[in-house]
Amino acid sequence: MLSVDRIVVGSRYIIPTPKHIAGKRAIVNIRSSDNYCFQYSALAGMNLDSVSSHKHKKRASLYKPFMHMLNMESIQSPVPLSSIGKFDSRNSDISVNVLYHDGDQIVPVRTSIFTNQRKHHVTLLTITNGNKKFHYLSVQSLSKLVSTAAKYKHRHCVCHYCLYPFLNDDRLKEHTIMCRQHQSQQIRYPTPGKDDVLKFTKFNYQFPVPFVIYADFECLLEKNESDHSVMHVPSGLCALTVSIFEEHD
Ligand SMILES: [Zn+2]
Repeated sequence: MLSVDRIVVGSRYIIPTPKHIAGKRAIVNIRSSDNYCFQYSALAGMNLDSVSSHKHKKRASLYKPFMHMLNMESIQSPVPLSSIGKFDSRNSDISVNVLYHDGDQIVPVRTSIFTNQRKHHVTLLTITNGNKKFHYLSVQSLSKLVSTAAKYKHRHCVCHYCLYPFLNDDRLKEHTIMCRQHQSQQIRYPTPGKDDVLKFTKFNYQFPVPFVIYADFECLLEKNESDHSVMHVPSGLCALTVSIFEEHD
């Protein structure tokens, strides 16, 4: 889990989009020399009629006429991640999620409790130039952003809390009920042949004990017709005692 404190502020510096992300055509990196990359990127994510079909979405000038749509009262610019909750409160028709690109993977660092419950939902991606300067980009397609070309050829419904892609909206809704109970997280699978076998290696940490009891229950599943729940009813038990003392082994 990435610490929120590591992301200081949105940067006024123009930071180029990493090549492998730019190739996905999922984000817009708005060129600006001021401190408003958060505002421009938020507006770019709101799908405003006169902007969404514009072919020069990277121009900051395109968004300036719409700045009044954002209530930035007592929110500093560049906007720190810690102020986005305040932005959510000030702007009752917009919810904002933030992802972070750490050079290797994309992780969710801030998921709004109002996700998909407001007129506009905005997802921003922060990138860094490696010098503690961060810059907000507008995510136009979360599905394209998290997909890998070989694995996901079609549009997916992506969980905002863990970025896991689902084939359809029903499965995503089913998953989200559970996933939203936890903090934002990123599932990372082991790489075949690299770190896909987990072994106990800290033999020096083992602590000898005189007795160990291994016990296991076997259960039958009994269905409760009234509430459709299933109970584990024990049907057998085995316990094995192992000891360093021969007479007890
Ligand atoms: Zn999830």
